[in-house]
Amino acid sequence: MDAVENQFYDLLMAQGISLSVYQLKQFSDYYEQLVIWNEKMNLTGITEREQVYIKHFYDSVSLSFYVSLPDIQTLADIGSGAGFPSIPLKIIFPHLKITIVDSLNKRIQFLNHIVSFLHLDNVSCVHGRAEDLARNVNYRDHFDLVTARAVAKLNVLSELCLPFVNKSGLFVAMKGSDPTDELNEAKYSLKQLKANLSKTFSFELPFEQANRHLIVIQKKALTPILYPRKAGIPSKEPLI
Ligand code: SAM
Repeated sequence: MDAVENQFYDLLMAQGISLSVYQLKQFSDYYEQLVIWNEKMNLTGITEREQVYIKHFYDSVSLSFYVSLPDIQTLADIGSGAGFPSIPLKIIFPHLKITIVDSLNKRIQFLNHIVSFLHLDNVSCVHGRAEDLARNVNYRDHFDLVTARAVAKLNVLSELCLPFVNKSGLFVAMKGSDPTDELNEAKYSLKQLKANLSKTFSFELPFEQANRHLIVIQKKALTPILYPRKAGIPSKEPLI
């Protein structure tokens, strides 16, 4: 292990996660492929190794410090970009059955490459808009947990993500700065989409003094037929 891996290993160990040599190699391969592919397409603005391990890998895994992933079977990651948070979560929790959704096909091509390069099973990478895919019976009201990191404001995001959650499942929005205003603005959309705010968690990323917030939302009934509205409408005319 080099210094960056040592630090990552110790940070996760402090959270009760003991990484194997195989998992450390998967993270290292993921980092290398991310940097190589980032030269051909826009995947991330962060490429320095220690920064990727903290701001992408550790940040993605932080969800599991607050939500018990051993109790989750199916996870959908909406607007996953270069695979955050779902690929780091899959490396650590290999039992998860993951569906990744992104509207940019180039990113889906990268993710398909990563899934085969890292020998990840039960990960399906789907190209499309969340608004359209949530109408597919295989995805609608289906997943135990739906995540999204850095995709949209909560009132928009709720309409993109909650239709994928099964009727007693969870939606976790991963946010940077204080989400109090977003939460207030999202009250109506949560009501329309049959969900309640369950909890919020705040923490700082190690060494960065950067705030992070997890918003945990509990679904309580199936998605009303009206939602999601047509692709593009949730962001153009957010529910308020
Ligand atoms: N979650 C990643 C992360 O934290 O690094 C990527 C965030 S990136 C800012 C937002 C991603 O969401 C982009 O890859 C974009 O293509 C995707 N996206 C935006 N709107 C979407 C939609 N309606 N349906 C599916 N994907 C969407």
